[in-house]
Amino acid sequence: MSALPSHLELVQGVVLPKPVGAHPVLDFVNTRSEWTGSGPARTEWLTSYETFLIWNAYVGLLSAATVLRLTEQAGAGEAARRLQATLDFRAELYDVLTGQATDHAFEAAARLIEKASGRRHLARSEDGTQIVGWELPEDLELPLHNLAVLAGELLTGPDRAHVRTCPSCGWLFLDPRGRRRWCSMATCGNRAKVRAHAARTAAS
Ligand SMILES: [Zn+2]
Repeated sequence: MSALPSHLELVQGVVLPKPVGAHPVLDFVNTRSEWTGSGPARTEWLTSYETFLIWNAYVGLLSAATVLRLTEQAGAGEAARRLQATLDFRAELYDVLTGQATDHAFEAAARLIEKASGRRHLARSEDGTQIVGWELPEDLELPLHNLAVLAGELLTGPDRAHVRTCPSCGWLFLDPRGRRRWCSMATCGNRAKVRAHAARTAAS
């Protein structure tokens, strides 16, 4: 078997891109390649609902136990519908985050964020002494709704001003210090260096 490129990782039998967005919502958006073209992804990493669950555990959004339970619950038709809803939201969210959403895309993303936020309940510890925080019901909608809640917080919070787009591939990342240009030096940064070198060589 050939080695994977350095920006990818084999996780529980599926290939996933390593997180570079510095925010789970941006890493979610970065689960397909080449946002810069308007066509389909050159590489789609969320190839099934189960893969989406594995990705959630990989980036620390769901526990391994939850992923196991949801994987067992997901029937084929239901899983396919959940995956499609996830990919639709990812595309709408990308347009909202990059300031290019149509009214339709914005409304669709906003309705999901509102619905997910409304399903949260305030949970406390079993002995009743501590507030655990906001929780969503553990059902098949959990992974998408959890991301929708986080997306709502990102869009309305201070990090929103620090979201940047990689000029090469269109991936998103947080850049609070204004120093990052590329999603990753190992991929797009390096490609740009090679292109610049080739241009210099051709010109000389
Ligand atoms: Zn890039």
